[in-house]
Amino acid sequence: MTVPRPLPATDRDTEAFWKGGGEGKLLIERCNACHYLIHPPTGFCPQCESRDTAPHAVSGRGVVTSCTVNHKQWMPDLPVPYVLALVSLEEQDDVRLATNIVDCDPESVFIGMKVTVRFEQSQDLWVPLFAPETAA
Ligand SMILES: [Zn+2]
Repeated sequence: MTVPRPLPATDRDTEAFWKGGGEGKLLIERCNACHYLIHPPTGFCPQCESRDTAPHAVSGRGVVTSCTVNHKQWMPDLPVPYVLALVSLEEQDDVRLATNIVDCDPESVFIGMKVTVRFEQSQDLWVPLFAPETAA
């Protein structure tokens, strides 16, 4: 299933996040000083105020912390229903990615569900989406 979506504008800070999928990696910005994961990437660590940050490959595993099934067909070719979710990363649970849960029955998604990342290429970006761990 492909959900058409507006593509994000990328800049120096966010480029790694949107392109890491090309190498199968979920790249989250990390502070080199205290190893805090920063998302969305800003080039600045809110924990220790360092600007020494770099993209870091995480496991791609996480947990659904919020989910909504969207039934409304906003665009003619939009497949519905689909799941809008926040996924909290295994490495640091305050890193929450706004994403879609795919490769499963939308009604089966629940808060606390374990999911793993997969990437959907869209032009020169790879959009991180998540699917149930058991479907990996
Ligand atoms: Zn830091």
